[in-house]
Amino acid sequence: MSTIALNLKNVLQRIDAATAGAGRPAHSVQLLAVSKTVSADVVREAFAAGQRAFGENYVQEALDKIAALADVRESLQWHFIGPLQSNKTRLVAEQFDWVHSVDRLKTAERLSAQRPAHCAPLQVCLQVNISGEASKSGAAVSDAAQLAHRIAALPRLRLRGLMAIPEPHDDPTLQRKPFRALRELWEQLRAEGLALDTLSMGMSADLEAAIAEGATLVRIGTAIFGARA
Ligand SMILES: *Cc1c(COP(=O)(O)O)cnc(C)c1O
Repeated sequence: MSTIALNLKNVLQRIDAATAGAGRPAHSVQLLAVSKTVSADVVREAFAAGQRAFGENYVQEALDKIAALADVRESLQWHFIGPLQSNKTRLVAEQFDWVHSVDRLKTAERLSAQRPAHCAPLQVCLQVNISGEASKSGAAVSDAAQLAHRIAALPRLRLRGLMAIPEPHDDPTLQRKPFRALRELWEQLRAEGLALDTLSMGMSADLEAAIAEGATLVRIGTAIFGARA
């Protein structure tokens, strides 16, 4: 078995163990393989090992890989998870299936207007700055509810849920706190009538804490592809 296939198997086992440990149904957490900085050949190796959903942070790098894997495009899901500048929204609206990093109404409006008519609606998450760090992207918690309702009303987007990248901690108790806060916000929005089914939270170092707090999708790079340069 290749290293990538072995790593994928190990990550899926971690996800299964955390899901069972949290008393949640099997297969209720999706694995997004974060392939930023990884070559198209390595993505293809992960595809051969059964992985279908890939996350990318940089538009041009992602477009090159999407083109290199065009022969299997129908089997793949491409998720954009990086900071999104206004001048790059068109390419993302045209080429991706999902965007996790929507954090402003203007970006959402552009993505909706630019999503081609022949494509399914673009699946999006609202990114929330759950740790409240000044340096981090994501909508402020205090703006999130109003923003979510406005994004959900856009015609060519489908708001699926919330995403966050909390401040890293080694202590599992501290890891869980922001994940719990995101889940509570998500539950509040669902109670307000938004049909959300996705909580995009948890990375290589904290996926167990995220799953314990209700993550439905974890974004994993290092544990599958190794440390980035
Ligand atoms: C890079 C990245 C990840 C993956 O992080 P790892 O620690 O390598 O698993 C997840 N989410 C986002 C938004 C990222 O930029």
